[in-house]
Amino acid sequence: MTAHISTWQQELASAFSKPEDLLLYLDIDSQAFSHLSRHDFAMRVPLSYANCMQKGKLDDPLLMQVLPIADELSNPAEFQNDPVGDLSALTENCIIHKYQGRVLFITTGGCAINCRFCFRRNFPYAEVQLNKHKEATALGYIQDNPDIHEVILSGGDPLLLSDQRLNDLMQKLSRIAHLKRIRIHTRLPIVLPARITSELISILKNSPIPIIIVTHCNHANELSVQVITACRALKQPNITLLNQSVLLKGINDNTQILQSLSEQLFAAGILPYYLHLLDKAKGTAHFEITQTKALKIHQALQHVLPGYLVPKLVKEQAGEAAKTLIV
Ligand SMILES: *Cc1c(COP(=O)(O)O)cnc(C)c1O
Ligand code: SF4
Repeated sequence: MTAHISTWQQELASAFSKPEDLLLYLDIDSQAFSHLSRHDFAMRVPLSYANCMQKGKLDDPLLMQVLPIADELSNPAEFQNDPVGDLSALTENCIIHKYQGRVLFITTGGCAINCRFCFRRNFPYAEVQLNKHKEATALGYIQDNPDIHEVILSGGDPLLLSDQRLNDLMQKLSRIAHLKRIRIHTRLPIVLPARITSELISILKNSPIPIIIVTHCNHANELSVQVITACRALKQPNITLLNQSVLLKGINDNTQILQSLSEQLFAAGILPYYLHLLDKAKGTAHFEITQTKALKIHQALQHVLPGYLVPKLVKEQAGEAAKTLIV
């Protein structure tokens, strides 16, 4: 029996999973440094993302986001498994209800890429994997809470759901009268643009309630022609496109790099939303920059960009009622 597998699923299945293979592809001598080949948070890099990297450059800002390195083993005490208190907020039905008016809905544990700085890198996904029963419970929770006006599909990456699952879920959500918006937090338009198929666009276009898509792009080099084409296709009358980034040492902790990112995002039809300080997840300490430095970079950014292209500098603090603005 041959199942029909679309291109994006094939690309996903054949993503780089061994550092040696990726380094070979990039013409980098894998002896040159100490990467980790054994790791409980495996490497995963789709080809289209690897194609945005510069050949022969170990300090490429995209490669640095995905290559497991020995620095991950250093474990300062304040870097924890659940840095933002998601586990304590997670109800048994894949819903995280921390903020007023909106809930996170964990639709899948999977991602197309494994970002080394991810705050969910130590998250027990298996326990929150959505199934039909949990989905029904989650929908019931939203239905029973008329204060919830927005559902944020998150994960993992919600666009890894099949078109059918996604459509089904969005239709069910749309029938909840007090829901005003569906938000989708996804890195797929950036790291696996092949996912943005015409079928997906028509599902999103047909949503009875407005959609906000928040992409996750950290560097202008991630915006290839293919990615820009995918983002432009997402730009529909009922869809608002925003982006969030994470401030990462040695990758984008620089005013010019962030200025260029904002300019290129705008050219792709996306407005910058948040610039996050790193969440202190275990294994990510080497990506951290100080809050003082972050603020300096951000202030300089305000001097070189129009206000609408300056993302809000925020951090997430467990127990707070919203993201904390850094000013
Ligand atoms: C970040 C986050 C949101 C969304 O916050 P906004 O400020 O609306 O973007 C919602 N719920 C949880 C649990 C979050 O972590
Ligand atoms: S795509 Fe997002 S959720 Fe997935 S590993 Fe990267 S940062 Fe984490």
